[in-house]
Amino acid sequence: MVKRTIVKIDEEKCTGCGKCVAPCAEGAIEIIDGKAKVVSEELCDGMGYCIGLCPEGALTVEERDTVEFDEKKAKSQPHTTDISIRCFKCNKGEDEVYLLPLRHKMKSEWVCTRCLPMLIHG
Ligand code: SF4
Ligand SMILES: [Zn+2]
Repeated sequence: MVKRTIVKIDEEKCTGCGKCVAPCAEGAIEIIDGKAKVVSEELCDGMGYCIGLCPEGALTVEERDTVEFDEKKAKSQPHTTDISIRCFKCNKGEDEVYLLPLRHKMKSEWVCTRCLPMLIHG
């Protein structure tokens, strides 16, 4: 056991929408019985990339005793292309463009690097 940061999921707030599943590069999150779960704590590196993607604010990162992050195992997890992840401006998917998560007015969106300058410069 080591003390390190790891994702915490508030099941009261989680609606099971699944928006956090595919963006997790380590494949650590799955929807089980309608709720997001960290399927294996050794797969979660605690980077917290998923936090901003949850529309319900159900994800946080906490520091606690857990198993060490297993980078090798995380890398060997199957990764799927999620066709529901698209730029909210041009509707292009990750197979065509680079996508970044974006928060605006309590909503979690994706924007591609081509459309981002329009948001920055208006
Ligand atoms: S994005 Fe949030 S509400 Fe949706 S499944 Fe993940 S933790 Fe639950
Ligand atoms: Zn775009």
